[in-house]
Amino acid sequence: MIVEGDSRALHLLRTVFGHPAFRGAQQEIVTHVAGGGDALVLMPTGGGKSLCYQLPALLRAGTALVVSPLIALMQDQVAALKQLGVRAAFLNSTLDGQAVNAVERGLRDGALDLLYVAPERLMMPRMLELLAESRIALFAIDEAHCVSQWGHDFRPEYLQLSVLHERFPDIPRIALTATADPQTRDEIITRLALDKARVFVSSFDRPNIRYTIVDKQDARAQLLRFIRDEHDGDAGIVYCLSRKKVDETAAWLATQGVRALPYHAGMDAAARTEHQARFQQDDGVVVVATIAFGMGIDKPDVRFVAHLDLPKSIEGYYQETGRAGRDGAPADAWMAYGLGDLVQQRRMIDMSEGGETFKRVLLTKLDALLGLCESAGCRRVRLLDYFGETSTPCGNCDNCLEPPQTWDATGAARKALSCIYRTGQRFGAVHLIDVLHGRATARVTQWNHDKLNVFGIGADLDEPAWRNVIRQLVALGYARPDHEAYGALQLTDASRAVLKGDVTVEMRRVMTRKGKAAKPRGRTGSGNVAQPSAGLLDKLKAWRYTQAQAQSVPAFVIFHDSTLAGIAAANPKTLDELSGISGIGAKKLERYGTAILELLHG
Ligand code: ADP
Ligand code: ZN
Repeated sequence: MIVEGDSRALHLLRTVFGHPAFRGAQQEIVTHVAGGGDALVLMPTGGGKSLCYQLPALLRAGTALVVSPLIALMQDQVAALKQLGVRAAFLNSTLDGQAVNAVERGLRDGALDLLYVAPERLMMPRMLELLAESRIALFAIDEAHCVSQWGHDFRPEYLQLSVLHERFPDIPRIALTATADPQTRDEIITRLALDKARVFVSSFDRPNIRYTIVDKQDARAQLLRFIRDEHDGDAGIVYCLSRKKVDETAAWLATQGVRALPYHAGMDAAARTEHQARFQQDDGVVVVATIAFGMGIDKPDVRFVAHLDLPKSIEGYYQETGRAGRDGAPADAWMAYGLGDLVQQRRMIDMSEGGETFKRVLLTKLDALLGLCESAGCRRVRLLDYFGETSTPCGNCDNCLEPPQTWDATGAARKALSCIYRTGQRFGAVHLIDVLHGRATARVTQWNHDKLNVFGIGADLDEPAWRNVIRQLVALGYARPDHEAYGALQLTDASRAVLKGDVTVEMRRVMTRKGKAAKPRGRTGSGNVAQPSAGLLDKLKAWRYTQAQAQSVPAFVIFHDSTLAGIAAANPKTLDELSGISGIGAKKLERYGTAILELLHG
């Protein structure tokens, strides 16, 4: 069958990749690049960037060169492409001389559709010569934000990639990233000489991710409850700030029956590699990590990302939570946040090296994140607004699902601020709450705080409620922690208006889990995912696991969770019905179709 242009792209999308339709701007991008145009693609994680160069690679003559910074990532991509019957290979330091020769021959002979290479290898003179002798379909530069010197993923080798444009001006280039901010975008354009490229910006919304930010009380127990109630047996990532906390949390979760493994830069390389591999390949491993665990993770079926500590900014939060649910199936971004986090982050900024301007930037970023944490409105609206997108309440975040009650906290705020003032602005929350509650602890009597008129004026609120009030006072700027004095709380210029009764203070009420109704399971944000029958799904997962083991590839390379869910929900009786499910292309149908039907109905 001869199919031309756009319809040929659609034909390949359906037969090779098994997807019924393009998503978002994919079709436009594919057409543009296949037609020889340069492109810069900004799409959130899980948005479907890979197809934007994989399809043009199949549509254009010659081999597409894909620059990718991470070895594990390119290996998985290549394994997945081979499953689809695409001729793909990679070149990196894990190959021996003979294997390298074979791949190079394949390139020269035009026997490859896609070749993945690390940037440093691409820049080697021998490689550039080889490229000149081969037919190149296009250059794809993945994770293009690695050129940004200000980002945390900076790779010096990326800076040299502009050479591609000088050497091969007629070959189209497509740069892709999930980093949204305008500065990074401009840097990519300048450094990669992409000023003539068409820029495709997608919405950065991740509708399948449910955002939840809970009041931190007993964080560990809250985390365990969250995992047990909502993600039993699922793969997930738990982020902590310090290595010590990573180790302790992983060990503790393990004693509670969660398959948890630690990951941080202080561990030896072998253990790190092993833990990452187990996370990637096994089903249902939870990695507890510092942010050192990040970019190399290309696992589509991470069902939750949990933060036990506050990140530094909304950018950080969004990038980290973005690792959940790349396959489009429902996923959770869950965070426990409390006064201690706020004090700790402020202290880290205060004590950081760097000038006043730098610190002010960090503080502004932190404040934006605090605004998100304290918000009573839709979390997603707030997140997207930060990235310059307007939206309407999502129905798939904690605040949309259970709108928090607010209360007039003016009286409580005045009591707390008076207490801070009367005790000399030298104490932290624990002591302040003792005084408010009228508890004559040794410390209270030592300082004669039991003689103050604020002693015992706060018996009407319990401890969590007071912690909440004090935290919100700090987040709202009515009080601030002093880092020279170990986080003692002090008044600010804004406090006076509250104390004088000139302003009213609205606060979120503390939400305790006790007596809280279970979350509705029907997820609104993920219309593309059918609700499968649990028994069938388990059966399919077990089957996938044996397949993955036998072929030594990660389970998701065989089928994504969303495809298994699709199969379980449709319960197909024939190969034809099976082929209609997203994620089942011709090759996979041929390879696994009969086995799946037997599994379902045998
Ligand atoms: P990114 O690189 O942008 O993070 P991927 O390219 O890995 O995202 O794609 C994310 C997921 O979306 C993958 O599971 C992929 O198979 C799926 N996907 C991509 N395009 C489509 C499409 N047009 N229809 C259905 N699923 C798609
Ligand atoms: Zn919402």
